[in-house]
Amino acid sequence: MLEFDQELARDLEVIKHQALLRRLSRVDSAQGTCLRMEGCELLSFASNDYLGLAADAALKEAARQAVQEYGAGSGASRLLCGSLAPHHTLEEALAAFKQTQAALSFGSGWAAALGAIGSLISRNDVLILDRLAHACLVDAARLTGAKLRVFAHNDLADLEALLQWAVARRADQGVESHARPMRILIVTESVFSMDGDVAPLVPMVELKDRYGAWLMVDEAHATGLYGPRRCGVIESLGLGGRIEVQMGTLGKAVGAAGGYIAGSRLLRDLLVNRARPFIFSTAPVPAAAAAAQIGLDLIQGERGARLTRLLWERVAQFEEAAGRIPLHRSSPGASPIVPVIVGDEQRALAAAAALRAEGIYVPAIRYPTVQRGKARLRVTLTAAHTAAEVERLASELTKVLG
Ligand SMILES: *Cc1c(COP(=O)(O)O)cnc(C)c1O
Repeated sequence: MLEFDQELARDLEVIKHQALLRRLSRVDSAQGTCLRMEGCELLSFASNDYLGLAADAALKEAARQAVQEYGAGSGASRLLCGSLAPHHTLEEALAAFKQTQAALSFGSGWAAALGAIGSLISRNDVLILDRLAHACLVDAARLTGAKLRVFAHNDLADLEALLQWAVARRADQGVESHARPMRILIVTESVFSMDGDVAPLVPMVELKDRYGAWLMVDEAHATGLYGPRRCGVIESLGLGGRIEVQMGTLGKAVGAAGGYIAGSRLLRDLLVNRARPFIFSTAPVPAAAAAAQIGLDLIQGERGARLTRLLWERVAQFEEAAGRIPLHRSSPGASPIVPVIVGDEQRALAAAAALRAEGIYVPAIRYPTVQRGKARLRVTLTAAHTAAEVERLASELTKVLG
């Protein structure tokens, strides 16, 4: 055991030497804009709880009622011990929200990505990913053993070149009598988690149609925020019927936890049969499903309209107040994720520490979450922040980075 620990200590030393060591900061309060973190009251600009629903009274009450009626645990996989009603009502609500034929929920967005990509793609297929695609999409792609190609971030010309390559490969392969045709799946996020910019989905859909590929879009940071019903970027662009696989999480704007895939009824049926994280994992607790369903309800109603209006106001306010700070924005107001690129890992840590000393919590994001040398402070704004709080953030940031 001693040798084992010594070896791990050496691994950790390497991580630390690169200014990449991470540790957990204990919080003794609910998630929200004010955190009690390691004994300090901090104003947080870190969470993905964009609408402030994580600690909302209605979601908490839904979770409480689900515990009362269905218990704390879920017993086993849904295929094994029966599929609890809260998961079904959630999935019906998700399909109605996304305006798809069906949806399937998972324990997390991560599990949804693994399940969907793994069910659709196998070794002889081709997967084409945006360079900045989330780790779960990359890991899911790797697990399939398919040929993996990466296009420069949001670069349509690069994507098209890869599609041409893939189509040529498909033609070369031909179709052996017993095998299905080679599949080409493009995977992207709609709003990118660490850069906060938006994928050019309209031309991407045209490209994938032209080359006979499929498209999977991860709306983790878009669900609840974009479009007339806050359904996501896909809705805002009117692309609903044209994208094969929509995925997302219930743990960000929706305010609960879990992940989902939305699409055709046959996609759902296939996932129930093939998605390993669905089949071989205990179902999410009923409380999470019930809270997520209420989160979806709120988002689509008057409350959601008001909260998103507030959120976009805060984003605009911050962009304006940040003044001289070089915000990393592709277009103003693109998303509530506003990265401040610092570059050097050590410098990003120092900036985050300086802010924390002033009572503001903004995480320093480093490799491997982002590329080396692209370390940043990742500011996320929420509808729960007040104008005064956003003002305070901008002024402290200016001091720290100015
Ligand atoms: C957070 C996130 C996920 C994973 O969702 P979880 O429910 O947290 O597992 C997937 N994709 C993107 C882009 C994310 O930011």
